[in-house]
Amino acid sequence: MNDFLPFTRPTIDEETIAAVADVLRSGWLTSGPRVQAFEAALSAYCGGRTVRAFNSGTAALEVALRLAKVGAGDTVITTPLTWVATANVILEVGATPVFVDVDPATRNIDLDQLADRITPQTKAIIPVDLAGLPVDRDRLYAIAGKHSLRVIEDAAQSFGSTWNGQRIGTGQNFVAFSFHANKNITTGEGGALVLPEDIDPALCERLRLQGFQRFADGGMDVDVLGGKFNLTDIAAAIGLGQLKRLDEFTACRRELVQRYFAGLDRTLGLQLPLADFSNSNWHMFHVLLPDGTDRGAFIASMREKGIGIGVHYPALHLFSLYRAMGFKPGNFPQAERIGASIVTLPLFPTMQDADVDRVCAALMQTLTRPLA
Ligand SMILES: *Cc1c(COP(=O)(O)O)cnc(C)c1O
Repeated sequence: MNDFLPFTRPTIDEETIAAVADVLRSGWLTSGPRVQAFEAALSAYCGGRTVRAFNSGTAALEVALRLAKVGAGDTVITTPLTWVATANVILEVGATPVFVDVDPATRNIDLDQLADRITPQTKAIIPVDLAGLPVDRDRLYAIAGKHSLRVIEDAAQSFGSTWNGQRIGTGQNFVAFSFHANKNITTGEGGALVLPEDIDPALCERLRLQGFQRFADGGMDVDVLGGKFNLTDIAAAIGLGQLKRLDEFTACRRELVQRYFAGLDRTLGLQLPLADFSNSNWHMFHVLLPDGTDRGAFIASMREKGIGIGVHYPALHLFSLYRAMGFKPGNFPQAERIGASIVTLPLFPTMQDADVDRVCAALMQTLTRPLA
C-alpha cells in the first residue's frame, strides 16, 4: 500500500525551521524585525509597492474594506464561488454583498454580467482568482474605472500568478494575499495587503492593531477602532523562507499540472480547468465530476485508494447564513453547478510524477465502475 497522498501539503525546508528556532531563542516573538523584513521582501516582490503583513488573509481583506471606507449602506460585488471569507468580510464591515455568477470557462466572476449589477450603492469589487487563475485585469479595471469603484483583489490563491507578464500584486489597487497553510506560500496562518498610493500606511497599521499610535515622548493615542491582526515574527520567519522558493514551487506545480492534462483519460467525462500555463500559479487543480456522480461516494472511493480529495468550494450563497439573507438555489446557476461537482485533486510542489499517475489511475478505476 502506498502512503496516503493528501490534496496538499506545505513544503518547509530545514533552513526555515532553523530560522524559526532562532526567533524562538531571540526573546522577541511577536511583530518585530522579521515582520519588517518580510514586508520589505513582499514589497520588493510586488514591484516596490507598499505592503503590510497581517495574521490572516481575511484580516487583510477586512482592513482593505475599512481603508476603502466601505460600510453600512454600501454594496460590494463579488463571486459566490470562493472561500466564504471573501463575502464574510463584507458583512463584517456592515456592507451588503452582491454576487455575480461565474464564467463557466474560468470559474471566476463573469465580467460580462458585472457591469449590470453596479448601482449607486456599489462601492467596491472584490474579484477572486480561483485556483490561482487571474481574473482578466484589463477588463476588470476598465469596468471599475468607468464607474469609479475601488477594487480589492482577493489574491489569496494567486500569489505567484501573473497577468500579461505582470505579477499579481504589482497592479494598481488593493491586493490581499493569504499565507494560510494550504496556500502556495505559507506562514502557518498569515496574510498581506498591498496598498494603493493614496492610502496612508500608518492608518493601515492602526487598523491592524487596536487603532493605537505611540508618540516619541512615550505617550499613546487611539483614534480609530482597530483589530488584532498583527503577524508574529515566528510566522514572518517562515514567510521569509517560503518567499525565496515561490518561483520554484510555481514551476513544480505547472509541470505537475501538465502531467495531469497529459494523463487524464478524456473519456471519463471530467471537466478540466482552463489550460493556462502562462498566468496561473496553479494553486489548485480542479476538475468537475461527470453529471450524476455522487461526490461523497467518489471522495470515499478515492480515499480508499490512498488519495485525498478536497472540495473548494460549494457556492457560498447557499450556506445557511446567506440563505437567511434571502439567497436561494437558482440565483447563480453556474456557481451552483460548479460548486456541486467540483473536486480538488492532489497538487503540491513535492509531489512526484508517479503520484500524478497514481491519481489518474485511481480516477479511472473509480469512475468506470458504479460508486457505492
Ligand atoms: C484562503 C482564502 C482567504 C482567506 O485567507 P485566510 O488567510 O485563511 O484568512 C480569502 N479568500 C480566498 C479566495 C482564500 O482562498
